Order: sequence, then structure tokens, then C-alpha cells
Amino acid sequence: MKPVSGTYTLILQSLSSKEIQIGRWGHLHIKPMYYIYVGSAFGPGGVRARVNRHFSNKKSKHWHIDYLLEYVNPVCAWYSYESEKLEHKWAAIFTAMEGVIPVKGFGCSDCSCAAHLFETSSVPDYKKFADISGADIRIFKA
Ligand SMILES: [Zn+2]
Repeated sequence: MKPVSGTYTLILQSLSSKEIQIGRWGHLHIKPMYYIYVGSAFGPGGVRARVNRHFSNKKSKHWHIDYLLEYVNPVCAWYSYESEKLEHKWAAIFTAMEGVIPVKGFGCSDCSCAAHLFETSSVPDYKKFADISGADIRIFKA
């Protein structure tokens, strides 16, 4: 990855069933499923800094996703360096996918999306996602 601004999707795996606290947002019952999180990184260090931060063990808790990351394993990230913020579009793509369930209100305090976090029993097809998105999307293996 390059220190360039862009949009990213984290693919995460939970191996257990557990009730966890997401800061002041509330409780989330995680299951042995995959979790998909959509975000954008337009600050210093771009996508590289943000994804590395998400996938590192030591971090302060700033976003909802930071709380979830304590309990799930990173699988990979899908990302794009497109200068347009694609996070809400990508959230809409996942919302429309069969078998992908939005975790209502998670990660979207500042927008009108159903969610920026999704739960699914199998990882969606990357190529299919890239096709629907129309963006140049790459994969980073955790
Ligand atoms: Zn959104």
C-alpha cells in the first residue's frame, strides 16, 4: 500500500460468539461470522497508515471499529486510491448484497447510510464487488 488517500474495506473474522461493548454506542453481539467494515482515509499517511493502524494491536479507541477490532481477526483489506470518497457508495453496495446484513448505525454517526459494518457467513466475491463499484480496487492481505 502507498501513503495515498482513498477508501478501504476491512474483512474481519470472528471466531467466537460474544457480547461486546462499543464505546458509548452500545452493545454488539458478535458471532462466528465475517465482518466487513467500510471507511475512508483522507488524512496523513492515507490508506496505508489507516489500514496498518486498524490491523495493529496497540491503538487507542477512537472509532467504533477500534472496539470491534479487539475481538476479531483481520483477514484482508480491499482498497482504492480514487480521489473521490467512496465509503458511502461502498456501504450501499454491501447493503444491497444478498447474505450481507448491515449492523445498523455502526460507524455512520456522520452519514445517512444504514451501516458501515456488515455481518456475513462468507466473504463476498472480490471481483463482483470491484465490478459493481467500478473503481480500481486492490487487495492487501493481513
Ligand atoms: Zn455512510
